[in-house]
Amino acid sequence: MTSHSRTVALLVAAGQGSRAGGEAPKQFRIVGGKAVIAHTVDALAAHGGIDALYLVIGAGQEAKVRGLLGDRSIAAMIEGADSRRGSVRAGLEAIARDGGADRVLIHDAARPFLPGAVIDRLLAALDSQAGAIPVLPVADTLVRGETGVMGDGVARDALFRVQTPQAFAFDTILTAHRGWDEAREATDDAGILRAGGHDVMLVAGDERLEKLTYPQDFARAEAQLASTRTVRVGMGYDVHRLAPDEELWLAGVRVPHDRGLAGHSDADVALHAIVDALLGALAEGDIGSHFPPSDPQWRGAASDQFLAYARDRVVTRGGSIDHVDLTIICEAPKIGPYRDAMRTRIAQILAVPLERISVKATTTERLGFAGRREGIAAQAVATLSLPALS
Ligand code: MG
Repeated sequence: MTSHSRTVALLVAAGQGSRAGGEAPKQFRIVGGKAVIAHTVDALAAHGGIDALYLVIGAGQEAKVRGLLGDRSIAAMIEGADSRRGSVRAGLEAIARDGGADRVLIHDAARPFLPGAVIDRLLAALDSQAGAIPVLPVADTLVRGETGVMGDGVARDALFRVQTPQAFAFDTILTAHRGWDEAREATDDAGILRAGGHDVMLVAGDERLEKLTYPQDFARAEAQLASTRTVRVGMGYDVHRLAPDEELWLAGVRVPHDRGLAGHSDADVALHAIVDALLGALAEGDIGSHFPPSDPQWRGAASDQFLAYARDRVVTRGGSIDHVDLTIICEAPKIGPYRDAMRTRIAQILAVPLERISVKATTTERLGFAGRREGIAAQAVATLSLPALS
């Protein structure tokens, strides 16, 4: 395989996960301020070697998943089947319809903490084999015990615990799935490939990659994440001039008004303040240093992309957005009727639940430039959770 080969990830998130307790399937539960499935998607997206991500979900789960993932880039969401094997097959067929791939990583959404080094080892193994799986050695003593009485010991050095992602040459695993006899005993994807006469290479897995199954797994993950994270707060402030013959964009929403804001890009003062708050929390400069007003490509540009960029910076740093509080300062128009649309739009762009976005508005009692309707100001405070050492 060359480095130009196309590698896709197929994330299986169709399970109902009743063993973990609580109402929501385990891949939708929140851990460390973020849904398990979002952790998993971010871990895959953070690896530079993966070109596209396909997601297999349960029937009726699409709206829920889109809400949890926001603007994260997903090539397609595919409805799964009753069995895990059927769900994987549906995902592989969807990838095939899109032109196929050279390599596929098939991963469980309930294994969110996927180190990039595991992906590296899997992809390297595919240079010489059609399949590779991450495994861990068995630490505990193993004995037989079918009768309830201790039987012979089992040599543990020959046994391994299998994790995901499992990595395959795409055409080979697709052919193996298509040829699988429905009546055969259930096995995993590596088992299906092996039954087709191919070797599956074992590479070192990682303890962090354990599946979140039981309530205590979630508690442990929460504690681990909390002990390694720190809270950062950033603030942003912006002002733009009101001018005739301009559209008024505020917090990503077009607001009907007799004047609009003039300046850098679409002059969405509210989104600019949030971008600066996020960059401030990261200590990564300000909007002007990333998108210079002198650069003609940003003239009239929609500010959504600046906010998406700031969100991506947070994700790249391993962070998550805990809360954003925005205040818009103007005499007119009235913000109240657009508040919900603004919150929804910001939450969408930032890929966070609506509950973490606050939009407020105030006038300045007709004092100053805002009071004279010469311009609109906005200020924002963003609270992030970042890895403690970042
Ligand atoms: Mg601005």
